[in-house]
Amino acid sequence: MGQNSFPKTVKQSITTKIQAMVNKKAPIETEDDRKADLQRLKECICNRKNTTIRCKRCANLFFGRILRTCPSHQNVVFLHDMHTCPVCVGPKGDLEELPIDFETYKKLVQLTPLRR
Ligand SMILES: [Zn+2]
Ligand SMILES: [Zn+2]
Repeated sequence: MGQNSFPKTVKQSITTKIQAMVNKKAPIETEDDRKADLQRLKECICNRKNTTIRCKRCANLFFGRILRTCPSHQNVVFLHDMHTCPVCVGPKGDLEELPIDFETYKKLVQLTPLRR
């Protein structure tokens, strides 16, 4: 699709670095530690899928992800995640993710071209 925000290798190297940091600080793992780790990984949103985003200010649609801090990897930033609307530069708070897949998104965009 060409919509991925990062080449996979970069993502993986960041994840590996983070994991190395996490592993360093806890050399001895108890059962509770492992459970806590699993819980944190479950909350990981780094690999969430792109979705349709609507700006409430200019009503334009985009396909991608709204910038959000991952509870598991708080130092990881995905540069292509949206922190403002690309058209009206409205704040992130005015962007909303809609459960619309890429195929439907393309059709919607054809029906409603960008209003700049
Ligand atoms: Zn994560
Ligand atoms: Zn906008």
